[in-house]
Amino acid sequence: MKPETDSAAAAEAIDRQTMLEQVQAWSAINTGTANLEGLARQADALAEAFAALPGEIEFVDPAPVTAIDAAGNEVERQFGRHMVLRVRPDAPRRLLLTGHMDTVFPADHPFQEQRWMDDDTLNGPGLADMKGGIAVILHALKVFEASGDADRLGYDVMINSDEETGSLASAPLIERLAQGKYAALTYEPSALPDGTLAHARGGSGNYSLTVTGKSAHAGRNPEDGRNAIVAAAALTMGLKRLQNAECPVNPAKIEGGSANNVVPDHAVLRFNIRPKSPDAAQAFEAGLATLIGEVQQAHEVSIHRHGGITRPPKPVDRRAQKLFDLVRDCGASLGQEIGWKSTGGVCDGNNIAATGVPVVDTMGVRGGAIHSPDEFLIVSSLAERAALSALVLRKLASGDPL
Ligand SMILES: [Zn+2]
Repeated sequence: MKPETDSAAAAEAIDRQTMLEQVQAWSAINTGTANLEGLARQADALAEAFAALPGEIEFVDPAPVTAIDAAGNEVERQFGRHMVLRVRPDAPRRLLLTGHMDTVFPADHPFQEQRWMDDDTLNGPGLADMKGGIAVILHALKVFEASGDADRLGYDVMINSDEETGSLASAPLIERLAQGKYAALTYEPSALPDGTLAHARGGSGNYSLTVTGKSAHAGRNPEDGRNAIVAAAALTMGLKRLQNAECPVNPAKIEGGSANNVVPDHAVLRFNIRPKSPDAAQAFEAGLATLIGEVQQAHEVSIHRHGGITRPPKPVDRRAQKLFDLVRDCGASLGQEIGWKSTGGVCDGNNIAATGVPVVDTMGVRGGAIHSPDEFLIVSSLAERAALSALVLRKLASGDPL
């Protein structure tokens, strides 16, 4: 087949109507990351839809995750199950395709309804980020399975339930599934509404430092106290000194303290970092360890550290760049002009890239205003991006090694 015929066939074969119906039905299910009932319903709906593909569907329990509450206690956090579809596990080339079923809108959020903004623009929760992307995965694979190249390529599809809170309950699963894969595609919406892909990404880490001092009467024996709030403030100032252009640090919250006449013995400091490179991440970690030691000594408190870097920085190496070039070339043969730009945002593409597997992580729909009640999907991009992915899959099945 000539490439032009390939491209036209890929675009023609997409079932636009079904894509839109599925995305609208999925958006109507609230899947805030904490809504376990909604996520379970969504997982069932996805399993039903993905049963149209060959292979085995499995639900995977969330990995255990703990958080530090305001009192400094380590508490278990609950998450939904993840869906995995495994197709042709013995194929010589295997891909990982990933999406997430959760959204940032909890069950009690006012943004639950869909609304047409014009003929091609639909406003609604999770339409772009990323239930639209899940439909793109499904329909690209349907077209790919009907092509003559399917035998040569196997794949795992993973749809997790916790991406919006950092994929803590799916990170081990992502890492395991990425192992040995030829390449990976993640279906976050494009970086810009024109279809621009996200290129290199910085990383992200979330930390809680629990400070335990010693309480005393503020008037009678303050010298016997060890003030946890003052120590937390010292940590905060120290964190700002560790910050540089390669690693922004955001002290976000201090909780704790006590009555006005008591030297407080408890505080929790929470902060986020955005390292731009693996080196910057490592340098911050070393600086943090030193800072904790210094504050413990100077303020005679104990400090417990929880959390760390959960999204490693995602540089674009030579093989990843070849994958970007391949996506661009497929776009060009479909009449889609596709560029890319670096971004400060993070996603599961960070975790995949950390395993050394080349990944393009914004293969989903065109849309915008995500994480806000203005979130919109450009409806025609459902079929457009499914055709793009179907062609990318065929090239990955048959092309030269990356
Ligand atoms: Zn997303």
